[in-house]
Amino acid sequence: MPISERVRTALASSSMIRKMFEEGIALKKEHGGERVFDFSLGNPDVEPPPAFFTALAELAAERTSGVHGYMPNAGFPAVREALAKKASREQGVAVPASSVVMSVGAAGALNVVFKAALNGGGEVIVPVPYFPEYGAYIANHGGVFVAAKTARDFALDFDALSAALSPRTEAVLINSPHNPTGRVYTPDELSRLAALLTGHSARTGKRPWLIVDEPYRDLVYDGARTAPALGLYDNTMIINSYSKSLSLPGERIGYIVVNPAAEEASLVVDALAYATRTLGFVNAPALMQRCVARLGAASVDVAVYERRRNALLEALAAAGIAAAAPQGAFYIFAKVPPRRGGGGAAEDG
Ligand code: PLP
Repeated sequence: MPISERVRTALASSSMIRKMFEEGIALKKEHGGERVFDFSLGNPDVEPPPAFFTALAELAAERTSGVHGYMPNAGFPAVREALAKKASREQGVAVPASSVVMSVGAAGALNVVFKAALNGGGEVIVPVPYFPEYGAYIANHGGVFVAAKTARDFALDFDALSAALSPRTEAVLINSPHNPTGRVYTPDELSRLAALLTGHSARTGKRPWLIVDEPYRDLVYDGARTAPALGLYDNTMIINSYSKSLSLPGERIGYIVVNPAAEEASLVVDALAYATRTLGFVNAPALMQRCVARLGAASVDVAVYERRRNALLEALAAAGIAAAAPQGAFYIFAKVPPRRGGGGAAEDG
């Protein structure tokens, strides 16, 4: 048997979005890149900001010994220090460098977190809809995916979350700004979620992780703000990456921030470093670590996405397709109308 049954099954039900992406490449070859619009993967086509190219050129010219070698698995100390300052500003919590672990994008970070945190059979609650890869990341580490429905406007549904919590819950995973709905959770929603988890901890003695996946933190519209979550509940981790904010998904660079008030915080960071090493990442890419540490609050031009969002919303409305206006990220979650003449029911998707 050349491949495992699990992977064989996963391949058979492989992501429709990936299939559309591949179809898009084939169509571009046939009809020309300028005549095919690819709305499949979240693969940013807005170029990284000029500051990125400047930092990269400066780093390429440096001849400092050892900077291309192995380093501590959690990342370069100076880079962790720089990102701890950024996280402290964004989250309103004093984050020490020792609470930051550099990762291979948000995807690498989530796999590291689940390897470090999950016991076999541990449940991870995820509000629906969700980024489909979450299912694979949780399963990779023996976790059990537990879906929690959301409200009609995709706000967190606290009854559903409360019903989903069990003594086996090891984590609640949320994503804001949200892929695919574009929702940005409000400070009130995050506080209520933190209170729910605090109450659960007091009743059961179990303190699940709150994992907040924020790769779209900087991509927000209409004055929306990605609210800080780190300090609301002790056992919280924030995941961030530069795939979207700097349009660098191919460079695979991100990081994890552990609330310094978390239970056994220093052991948790050791566990994340161990998981980074033994999953075979070893460390996040060295050159990119040093590069992003220099970029501070640099970001792609969000106005480009905002204009596209507005144009697409207008086009969808004109076509009679219902869609909520995203407050952040760069997706539109539209209600697909019933197939003409097919007689089938409409699906959300
Ligand atoms: N989390 C969400 C919600 C995403 O949409 C994505 C990518 O699209 C990721 C994580 C993975 O991001 P990265 O490229 O940083 O691994």
